[in-house]
Amino acid sequence: MVVSLSDKSRLQPLRDGTPALATICSHSSLQIFHGARVEGFGSVGIAQGTPPRFYDAFPLAKPDKFLLVDRWENVHSIVPKLEESRAVIVPTGSFVEYVGPERFSALSVPVFGNRRVMEWESDREKERVWLERAGVPMPRKYRDASEVDGPVIVKYYGAKGGKGFILAKDRDELLESPIRKPHVIQEYIIGTRYYLHFFYSPISKEGYRVADGSLQLLGIDRRDEANIDELYKLGSQEGLLKSGLRPTFVVTGNVPVVLRESLLPQVFDIAGNIIETSIDLFGGMVGPFCVEGIMTEELEFKVFEISTRIVAGTNVYINGSPYSDLVAPGLSTGRRIAQELKRAAREDRLDEVLS
Ligand code: AMP
Repeated sequence: MVVSLSDKSRLQPLRDGTPALATICSHSSLQIFHGARVEGFGSVGIAQGTPPRFYDAFPLAKPDKFLLVDRWENVHSIVPKLEESRAVIVPTGSFVEYVGPERFSALSVPVFGNRRVMEWESDREKERVWLERAGVPMPRKYRDASEVDGPVIVKYYGAKGGKGFILAKDRDELLESPIRKPHVIQEYIIGTRYYLHFFYSPISKEGYRVADGSLQLLGIDRRDEANIDELYKLGSQEGLLKSGLRPTFVVTGNVPVVLRESLLPQVFDIAGNIIETSIDLFGGMVGPFCVEGIMTEELEFKVFEISTRIVAGTNVYINGSPYSDLVAPGLSTGRRIAQELKRAAREDRLDEVLS
């Protein structure tokens, strides 16, 4: 058993009636609500203040009902209503950002996937231990600026959208840069970025087998990041710095990409190792996750981050991707989540996909 609920009686209502998929009204909610509807589940949108109006423009992705909180700190106040709706929460980046990992983890409502994984994602040190143990190639981490012998990126913990990150071509440039603490100095990998959307099912025995389950690739995107993506149009880094212009990595959107086909075995190996190690470390990662990295000109994929849940880049594939269409036509990650829940309920294995 990969994931176990502390109180399995909480699953009983899900077995007895039509559950609803609940998520925060942001991030990838359109495809989660759409997927729930297509697979025959109800849907619940969680919002702060008033119901967001933009769903009126997307009737096939509008949640059946909204549950409102006055402030995100008070999210526990809607737990009885979530229980009434037989809700399963689908975690997204909005839960990390608005609710916070601790408050989210304490919610006494079934969550799709293993809620313990969030503590491994939200702590960069823990994430590194996990990926290193999985043998995943990563950018080098420097303990101190004096060790630096090439281009680097300086990251701050919890920095929203990479704000304030510093790029330096070499040690001298780094030493001249205004760096705050605490930070992490990482090798800057030169290559092309790919954000790979995987899905791990612990209950499927079909397809590409990993541990007791199977692994799917549902899509790949690249993030549009402001201002770094367009900054080069204003000239050289040196000139920009003189004018006080520093790069930022705020995600503003996503674009679809595919990977050179001969590189697929490499990224499947990486994702498979990440899953196997997660099972040893904390009982396994279940459902959608994203492996985020850079392909170098030597065709080696270096992973700088993983997201342990659905990522917003999957929104470019609400009607399927070049990869998910080869699993099932028109399959989004949101819909894949609903399918997994349906199968787990049918086979009486909900405790393996919920926590
Ligand atoms: P992160 O906060 O780690 O997701 O990084 C934000 C953005 O910084 C990424 O989407 C990449 O564009 C860039 N980035 C992060 N790490 C590296 C790296 N080691 N080398 C090059 N670019 C990076």
